[in-house]
Amino acid sequence: MAVRGALAGPRVLLKRLREVMAEPVSAQERLDKIVVLIAANMVAEVCTVYVLRVDGSLELYATEGLSREAVHLTVLKPGEGLVGLVAAEAEPLNLPDAQTHPAFSYKPETGEEIYHSFLGVPVLRAGNTLGVLVVQNRAYRTYSEEEVEALQTTAMVLAEMIASGELTALAKPGAEPAARRAVNVQGLALAEGIGLGRVVLHEPRVLVKNFIADDVQRELTRLDQSVDTLRASIDVMLEEEGMARAGEHRDVLEAYRMFAHDRGWLHKLREAVMTGLTAEAAVERVQSDTRARMLRQTDPYLRERLHDLDDLANRLLRELVGLNDGQKREEVPENAIIVARNMSPAALLDFDRTRLRGLVLEEGAPTSHVAIVARALGVATVGQIANATGLVDPGDAIIVDGDAGDVHMRPPPDLEAAYAEKVRLRARRQAQYAALRDQPAISKDGERVNLLLNAGLLVDLPNIAETGAEGIGLFRTELQFLVASTLPRTGAQYRHYKAVLDAADGKPVTFRTLDVGGDKVLPYLRTVEEENPALGWRAVRFGLDRPGLLRSQLRALLRAAAGRDLRVMFPMVAAIDEFDRARALIERELTHLRRHGHALPDTIQIGTMIEVPSLLFALDEILERVDFLSVGSNDLIQFLFAADRGNQRVAGRFDPLSPPALRALKLVADAGKRHGKAIALCGEIASRPLEALALLAIGYRTLSLSPAAMGPVKAMVLALDIGAASRLLLPLLAATARRAPIRETLRVFAEQSGVPI
Ligand code: PEP
Ligand code: MG
Repeated sequence: MAVRGALAGPRVLLKRLREVMAEPVSAQERLDKIVVLIAANMVAEVCTVYVLRVDGSLELYATEGLSREAVHLTVLKPGEGLVGLVAAEAEPLNLPDAQTHPAFSYKPETGEEIYHSFLGVPVLRAGNTLGVLVVQNRAYRTYSEEEVEALQTTAMVLAEMIASGELTALAKPGAEPAARRAVNVQGLALAEGIGLGRVVLHEPRVLVKNFIADDVQRELTRLDQSVDTLRASIDVMLEEEGMARAGEHRDVLEAYRMFAHDRGWLHKLREAVMTGLTAEAAVERVQSDTRARMLRQTDPYLRERLHDLDDLANRLLRELVGLNDGQKREEVPENAIIVARNMSPAALLDFDRTRLRGLVLEEGAPTSHVAIVARALGVATVGQIANATGLVDPGDAIIVDGDAGDVHMRPPPDLEAAYAEKVRLRARRQAQYAALRDQPAISKDGERVNLLLNAGLLVDLPNIAETGAEGIGLFRTELQFLVASTLPRTGAQYRHYKAVLDAADGKPVTFRTLDVGGDKVLPYLRTVEEENPALGWRAVRFGLDRPGLLRSQLRALLRAAAGRDLRVMFPMVAAIDEFDRARALIERELTHLRRHGHALPDTIQIGTMIEVPSLLFALDEILERVDFLSVGSNDLIQFLFAADRGNQRVAGRFDPLSPPALRALKLVADAGKRHGKAIALCGEIASRPLEALALLAIGYRTLSLSPAAMGPVKAMVLALDIGAASRLLLPLLAATARRAPIRETLRVFAEQSGVPI
């Protein structure tokens, strides 16, 4: 009975707060009324609201009990005093004698020396601290758990008020509430480009509008029913998972199930409802606490679990407001910047590309599937932005700088203008490149250079026409597999390759067979955990051990190219016999198709990638067998220097424009000439003008590039005297050469001879 009595208080308070929120008074008056109400309801002598400002300090915005003169005058530095501690930790602080606490900071203008007990709670929204709400009493007392709970509930109402921007008018310039502040965060650049636009949340946070319960019992029933439905839906997902459900991993679902039955969590939700919140507001309150903890958790495993709990709360919220089935995707506005915790490649492809300007992810690694698709779509993307979805609201202005890895949320006008200028400049440059489109890539000294594109999805194909490329030098077939939710069968592969050849319209396409395994994990194929995936069971190794998969792909390719020219190459070949065995599979499929009367390609060219250094010492043998070679310099250089290409700490450590790398690359070009076989290079260095210049100087004439690089690289070729570049560079590669910095030497050469790089 005692508990019920104690909890009636906050419900009455919430009702009164609702009335105050609806009154047509000024923001200050509203705040003043709120603190009076809270103090009276909690039998506290003091109630004070501090608001977090853009500079990280906390300003006293309203008080009942302390000196009124202190309002807007008392400011605590970041982390200062008990209030600063509550804000920094995002946890309540409940003290019978505040003044003996080591963090206590005395502010004489407030007159707070006569109050001993102190209860401060963070004002939280989506895990972010917006301010601190404090009650104090003269007596030395510890506030009860119910009182702490009640004050936290009340803080939610304040969070909405602060987030609405209503208080900004009360602030001095430069000291505005942090809630709507400009936020600059640095993440990981995943796809180049710059996007300016408006936030669209991929999985919209359910915006709880109705905080205050009319009937607590009914809210408890709603909560219980939703939890039951949630549990049942997780069980169903777990059953489906047994049948290779894509995307959602069993571990995650197991974690969901565990949390959905966790008594502590359910108890917290029920308690929050008991203080007078609606069921959805209760979920949001508990979720906000979880998020605040998540942001401060450094242990990756525990962070991950808190993420799961956060996801579960989202599901529950959707359940409560009825968004779980058939949620209608809102019309995406023009200039949309998608903000998501993470997303599947298929979900990204669902958006209207013409309206998409950028993507911001809380997770995301350079090799993640969504990053690959974002690059293919040319959508500026930044990943690893902690709590990105909690820092913005739908419709907020936002800038994604996929070159530098920066995200600017609610940017000030001057920054927005500077970026808009950058985008205009880029567009102008693109227009200049477009003018080069139909011009053949012939160097100043008359050398013909073959510029091809790297591609992997159907959406890439229009790039051939847009850039004037001479074909596709690397078609990464694994992308179709990575974006699919189930294994594409031979028929689906056949249709895909045929569509690619149709779209290429007679221009050559070099298909690379499946390069999966390692970090390219297919969600629907169970593979083994490996200690060193980059050195593991991947690409052609996997293909040869699972010939069914490789044969089905080869059959699809042979059939798709019926009556046309087919070019196929194998990834990650490390030994000659791997190539022989892979080629034998093509022969076998050909025989099979011939026997069944299928039409066959007019010509078949078979090649291999040079990605493993062992082949550098077997070039003559491999060149006797292949029709062409293509250097995968991303992998070749990673293995040459033993530096993981996906590890930011080491990826940029060794320069491809250094003698060891250039000598290795030159070995391949020279061997190709000796054997009269075509040699291409399709790694990312071909897309960088200065590196491409060096490649031409050491003998390469065929480069396969990312679409965005076509303009800059062609402009470089047109202005370059390749002979002069060779005469400069080759002596620097000789063993006896004085150690000259090649990159700098080439840069100066380009500058002096007017070659744009
Ligand atoms: C490479 O390794 O250089 C390459 C082109 O292949 P991928 O980047 O797909 O590994
Ligand atoms: Mg590779």
